[in-house]
Amino acid sequence: MGSLNLPRKVTVLGSTGSVGVSTLDLFAQAGAPVEVVALVAGRNADKLAEQALRWRPEIAVIEDEGALPRLRELLAGSGIATAAGPAAVTEAATREAQWVMSAIVGFAGLAPTLAAARTGAVIALANKESLICAGPELLRTAKRAGGAVIPVDSEHSAIFQVFEPQNAAQVSRLILTASGGPFRSWSREQMAAATPEQALAHPNWSMGAKISVDSATMMNKGLEVIEAAYLFAMPPERVDVLIHPQSIVHSLVEYADGSTLAQLGPPDMRTPIACAYAWPDRLSWPAERLDLARIGQLTFETPDPVRFPALAIAKAALEAGGAAPAVMNAADEVAVAAFLQRRIGFLDIARVVAETLERMSVEGWGRRDEGDVLESARAADATARRVAEEVANGLMASA
Ligand code: NDP
Repeated sequence: MGSLNLPRKVTVLGSTGSVGVSTLDLFAQAGAPVEVVALVAGRNADKLAEQALRWRPEIAVIEDEGALPRLRELLAGSGIATAAGPAAVTEAATREAQWVMSAIVGFAGLAPTLAAARTGAVIALANKESLICAGPELLRTAKRAGGAVIPVDSEHSAIFQVFEPQNAAQVSRLILTASGGPFRSWSREQMAAATPEQALAHPNWSMGAKISVDSATMMNKGLEVIEAAYLFAMPPERVDVLIHPQSIVHSLVEYADGSTLAQLGPPDMRTPIACAYAWPDRLSWPAERLDLARIGQLTFETPDPVRFPALAIAKAALEAGGAAPAVMNAADEVAVAAFLQRRIGFLDIARVVAETLERMSVEGWGRRDEGDVLESARAADATARRVAEEVANGLMASA
């Protein structure tokens, strides 16, 4: 590890979540020489305090102000500063770190991620909502500040690893693989009756609740198509999705000369996190090795647009441009929450998103890169949430 040029000062936004925990675990497993600047969570004061006592950050921040007294009590006498609220989250993201893991879930991740990008730090980007709602602006901001955005989502990390920037013009297609989620082979009738517990039981990956439900609807793949188009400056018609139930081939890049390059690995988020952490070097850590002979077979199939309409909805939002992806994202957050609260059915998730986009499209999508990016994304997000709640309530009333 001595000869690697690894970032020393690191911040983890969303440290108590699935990606955040994997990040800190990777540091531990690799014996990474990190000084943690800030750890940030939403409301889980107990877990945040436990992590803070282990990693000794300058500051531990919790978004939920009601959880601050508990955090203070747990960290009393430790010398670790504490703070709470959205402004404190964003402030923590701007503290002097060379590498920032952006792993807050949802739209709430956008403001701190943009703030971190302005400092010129390398952003390891898991929070896909930042890209969906303000992708081009986020990438420009990072570049202007002398930093970089390195994707952590396993599919984009795969593409990042086999995408040759010098041959970008010769890339004919990006192919994102998708496990197909827990309902890959379910009929629409079965899906109509799916429960939150069934939707949360992902066959290959252990993830947070929101992304697990998004995997079941394939909205996660829809969001990833938008992410890929922004990250790799690819037009929508050149980003495809391929079902690959084993989740071993994480994505592929097809070149004009007929070569297709892929990145493979066991389904473990610590590998793409390791890639983003050590980039452009490679980290040595006790990762599980890929045993292709044991796996034996890798299979592929095309996604079914009838059972998984979210893919076409996302492509249409990407093509519409402007605020459409941000609206889609907000509507999906509302719909997933309503499904998890058993207020709407599984198939209603895509209905809420499609109907919200349709109702809001009459106002036109506008140009998102005018004025303050954060404010215009916030406005689109707030209106879309209101409209999506109305649509969800309407579906409940008619059920
Ligand atoms: P989790 O739900 O497991 O964790 C979310 C994290 O964000 C937690 O630390 C949570 O804190 C924190 N948080 C929630 N709301 C706020 C807020 N308002 N302000 C500050 N912190 C907040 O999510 P995942 O780890 O699964 O996903 C994180 C992001 O990474 C998502 O955008 C997801 O799409 C993306 N991603 C995840 C992958 C995965 O394998 N899990 C793969 C690829 C991308 P608390 O615990 O206190 O609630």
